[in-house]
Amino acid sequence: MQTKIKEITPESLQEAKNIIFNGGVVAIPTETVYGLGGNAFDDGAVKKIFEVKGRPNDNPLIAHVHIDYDLSTIVDSIPPYAEKLRAAFLPGPLTMVYPSKGKVSPYVSCGLDTLAVRVPSHEGAQAFLREVGVPIVAPSANLSRHVSPTSAKHVFDDFDGKIPLILDGGNCTGGIESTVCDCTGEYPVILRPGLITKEMIASVVGRCEEYVPKIGQGEKVKSPGVLYKHYSPRCKTLLFPAENVENAVLRYRQETQENKGVAVLCEEKWICIFEKIGAKCLNLGKNQTEMATRLYGLLREAEGLCDTLIVIEPTEKGGVMTGVMNRLQKACASEDIPHGNH
Ligand code: AMP
Ligand code: MG
Repeated sequence: MQTKIKEITPESLQEAKNIIFNGGVVAIPTETVYGLGGNAFDDGAVKKIFEVKGRPNDNPLIAHVHIDYDLSTIVDSIPPYAEKLRAAFLPGPLTMVYPSKGKVSPYVSCGLDTLAVRVPSHEGAQAFLREVGVPIVAPSANLSRHVSPTSAKHVFDDFDGKIPLILDGGNCTGGIESTVCDCTGEYPVILRPGLITKEMIASVVGRCEEYVPKIGQGEKVKSPGVLYKHYSPRCKTLLFPAENVENAVLRYRQETQENKGVAVLCEEKWICIFEKIGAKCLNLGKNQTEMATRLYGLLREAEGLCDTLIVIEPTEKGGVMTGVMNRLQKACASEDIPHGNH
């Protein structure tokens, strides 16, 4: 199969729509990362998404809809606090989990009785969702566990020959996946941190908690995806806390003595230290937004640059950095051990 990359035009939207209603999948841009989209009502299309990505079948998908889509078609009840969050943050990088009406394919939620719904703000995504008019499940358009894609080229690198069409909406500005927020209880609970932060949610509805999975204590995990090693570049990664930059320098020296290709990913303020000792550096940037936007592109760049990537955790914590740290820890995890949301 030939994989075409097309700018978003009335013609390419029509082509995408035809693929979707013939049970196929299309990669679409959003403001967070690119998604691999299929019709949420179509069992075959949903199964195809799991297959093409190699996604574990206990990791549920998010249904994407346009801003005027009637949510009551697919979800059972929307609590008043969720209405407030919708008004404050949608369209935007906030996924909300509701009791499901059971109308979408049962494969979407992997046996959970809830449904995660998102309304992306990216203009191209909105145009596509309006064109098709049905909820589109769209997990990140990367091979499972690989780094999420923030450009059409990233999608092509993972799926050349495996999907018919990538709609090119430019580079994603958000850079990390949406915040996933459980709206089935008395107050919102963050299942996956992202660009809409706990503080932002609490400022609108008063209370917001973060979910910490209690592994091995008999509790069913609420959001299975939080358990996997994920977002990982195809090179060895070594993660150092910002307080341990000296150790990172020592490790860099040790690794280069063994003649390995080594590169360093760190925030801007450490770059000069590593450049002084001749390291290839990937600059994460100097503020929260920059670091979120650049993270995945740099992790992918590292693959072509080194065998070992030394990563320094950003100094600043909280806010958007909770999401950035969550992704970094999973990208640098060594195996499928529970990592929780932090
Ligand atoms: P991705 O599509 O790769 O961005 O991953 C989707 C994320 O949303 C994963 O962390 C899932 O576990 C989470 N998710 C999707 N549906 C649900 C749901 N019904 N309940 C809880 N979490 C969900
Ligand atoms: Mg993903």
